[in-house]
Amino acid sequence: MKIQFLGATEYVTGSCYLLTVGKHRILLDCGLIQGGFFDEEKNHQVFAFEPASIDAVVLSHAHLDHSGRLPLLVKQGFTGPVYTHHATVELCQIMLEDSGYLNERSVEWENRKRERKGLPLLEPLYTQNDARLALDNFNGLEYAKAKELFPGITVTLFDAGHILGSAIVQLDLVENNEKRTLVFSGDLGHTGAPILHNPVVLHHADLVMMESTYGDRLHRGWQETWQELGEIFLSARNDKGNILIPAFTVGRTQEILYMFGQYFDEWGLADWEIFLDSPMAIETNRIYSKYANIYNHKAQRRYKDCGNPFDLPNLHLTESTEASMNINKLSTGAIIIAGSGMCTGGRIKHHLKHNLWRKHCHVIFVGFQARGTLGRSIVDGAEQINLWGETINVNARIHTVGGLSAHADQAGLCNWYQQFTKRPLVKLVHGEPDAQKILATKLKSDFNAPVSAAREGETLDLLKL
Ligand SMILES: [Zn+2]
Ligand SMILES: [Zn+2]
Repeated sequence: MKIQFLGATEYVTGSCYLLTVGKHRILLDCGLIQGGFFDEEKNHQVFAFEPASIDAVVLSHAHLDHSGRLPLLVKQGFTGPVYTHHATVELCQIMLEDSGYLNERSVEWENRKRERKGLPLLEPLYTQNDARLALDNFNGLEYAKAKELFPGITVTLFDAGHILGSAIVQLDLVENNEKRTLVFSGDLGHTGAPILHNPVVLHHADLVMMESTYGDRLHRGWQETWQELGEIFLSARNDKGNILIPAFTVGRTQEILYMFGQYFDEWGLADWEIFLDSPMAIETNRIYSKYANIYNHKAQRRYKDCGNPFDLPNLHLTESTEASMNINKLSTGAIIIAGSGMCTGGRIKHHLKHNLWRKHCHVIFVGFQARGTLGRSIVDGAEQINLWGETINVNARIHTVGGLSAHADQAGLCNWYQQFTKRPLVKLVHGEPDAQKILATKLKSDFNAPVSAAREGETLDLLKL
């Protein structure tokens, strides 16, 4: 009975862990490595196992850093089922197809250059069609309902409160009459978030694999965060520029729109034209609206009383490229929400090109910016950036609203771990080394926890725990 740490160990993307119980092999997550060019090249490397030898995949949630290599896994021979929450099945339909589509477009573009230079042509990591084929293997589960995958391997998903359908994965395992419980936190949500429940607390585990994205810091309180956002909107009104919000299409965008509805008057939002410039985010809104039954109680009540919380009177849903380009004609009064959240692709790059050099504009970062991404360099204070070979000065006002994270902070992580009785072994995953070191020190000093950061390729024998 072994677990091997294959991805998202000392970094935050590429989540992937291989569990072996008897003759069965289960993959937990199969995520894309995201970041700069050299990081993303690693997605083309062969898997550390034979894809056809995997019996099933359990997927924690839809974000690509957890799901994004599943089409490649299927393309390379995996034929088993993928178990995940129902909402994740629907979200993956749009996210994986879109990912396949983007792969095809970027290779097409690269190949045009290579053809001119007489270089050999590249293959996309996977295509939109590969993604569709992978989606045929998906099976939806509900929260808190145990499912036996194979004799001796039972999985139960619990609400992680991170994005719609996100799950903490509990695996109850039996081998040679020995029982072990492995709990994988997935990405743990931020307690008190607007739409979803708080992460479910569990009490029993022999091994906890816990994310550590924000293991080294505390988020601002929610109230302070809403106030901070409101002040930005109110002061930006006097500047007469536009506001750009690079936002993850799944989760963050819906939270922002939800809060726009809640604070519509206080934040003076009637004075703006709000654009949701992302076909994927528009589609995601539809899925979020459909799963109101897994919202937290307050959000469920608002849904019942006031209807779809993502509808705003001055919200424009721009699906077509033409509609998106028309936004560029506006030099004032537009709030533009577009992906990708770290500015590595998507329509936000076009909006940055048109607004970043203008000092009356504002850019509000509302999510984690990984090393090597364009978003990170802007947040870190770059004076100029390069877009499609063109140098753009950064004159706009840059805001980082950290409190909006969809991840638990240090206190949230410690509190979640603290609920486990008997202080199980905790392996930190999905975090950068500095954050992991600080979190490990805290867990040791406060709870005497046996804790270490997982190393890439490391294998743990659960029967020896
Ligand atoms: Zn996530
Ligand atoms: Zn993640």
